[in-house]
Amino acid sequence: MSTEPVFAHDLPGYELVHAGKVRELYAPGPEAALPEGWAAEDLLLMVASDRISAYDHILSTPIPDKGEVLTRMSLWWFDQLADLAPHHVVATETPCVPEAVAGRAVLVKKLRMLPVECVARAHLTGGGLGEYQQSGTVSGLRLPAGLVDGSELPDPLFTPSTKAPAGEHDEPISYEQVRTLIGHPLARAARNLTVEILRRGHEIAAERGIIVADTKVEFGLEGVDAERELRTVTEEEIASGAVRIVLADEVLTPDSSRFWPAEGFAPGRQQPSFDKQYVRDWLTSEASGWDKNSDTPPPALPDEVVAGTRAKYVEAFERLTGESFR
Ligand code: ATP
Ligand code: MG
Repeated sequence: MSTEPVFAHDLPGYELVHAGKVRELYAPGPEAALPEGWAAEDLLLMVASDRISAYDHILSTPIPDKGEVLTRMSLWWFDQLADLAPHHVVATETPCVPEAVAGRAVLVKKLRMLPVECVARAHLTGGGLGEYQQSGTVSGLRLPAGLVDGSELPDPLFTPSTKAPAGEHDEPISYEQVRTLIGHPLARAARNLTVEILRRGHEIAAERGIIVADTKVEFGLEGVDAERELRTVTEEEIASGAVRIVLADEVLTPDSSRFWPAEGFAPGRQQPSFDKQYVRDWLTSEASGWDKNSDTPPPALPDEVVAGTRAKYVEAFERLTGESFR
């Protein structure tokens, strides 16, 4: 497998509609194999590559099996969360998922996405810590004094951000701004679901030696036309199921969340990353010859760093799910 995106010519019958840093989205065309009862225009194929990012760069060296590990992990979580929210997955097997990407792609319902990144934090770190140190708040919400990098929060917090166009950074926004964007009923539902998903994920992972410090989820809607103003969606429509809030994208993976090893967890310093620590340690070591503050791209990873990192992804999957990866 390579770091190159899967091009449309690798997937006859599909058209590339979006390329992210690590994943691509395709629209099935008239020749694509579809599940019974589905029309191509209602579906998307979401493909996870083996690319990995570190320090805001996509590395030139892929991590074998990463796309498959994360795809399977996300599917496992969708099941664990099914009583909280319906999810977008329609098919996971060939021929509905083309052979060339089988295992690391899913066919999903094409949804009207909420224009918000729904982030929740169980521990204080990163951008949340920065705001707290400046003002004692996170996402405008006041927190107790004395918290440090890694501290567990009294309750998980909803700390939404904008969905920035490719290449730009998502900006934190307040809950009030979310309400202005999508209206009170959808904002409240998205906030509550996001916090419940993190609570559940944090609890399950903690029993298995992994701390999910924070996570980002994305929701899409069913029952809302493309042209309709989201602010007009009512509480009653959500309660009756006329409008359904569906969990989309990927969920509770190391790419959408911070995973920390529970062993050795100690607030007051930066926590090691469950999955990326080998990569970070090597990139910042003298051996790499790379300066993370320069604009030069990072060098290729040595084989042992690749193997160690692959093993951590597989370990995360196996610990969480109790299944063997292969
Ligand atoms: P980045 O690489 O920074 O994450 P990105 O968000 O543009 O950039 P991806 O995460 O790979 O790239 O893109 C996935 C895109 O697919 C997101 O824009 C997400 O909102 C969208 N998406 C996920 N699930 C669905 C769905 N069921 N229907 C429609 N769009 C979806
Ligand atoms: Mg994304």
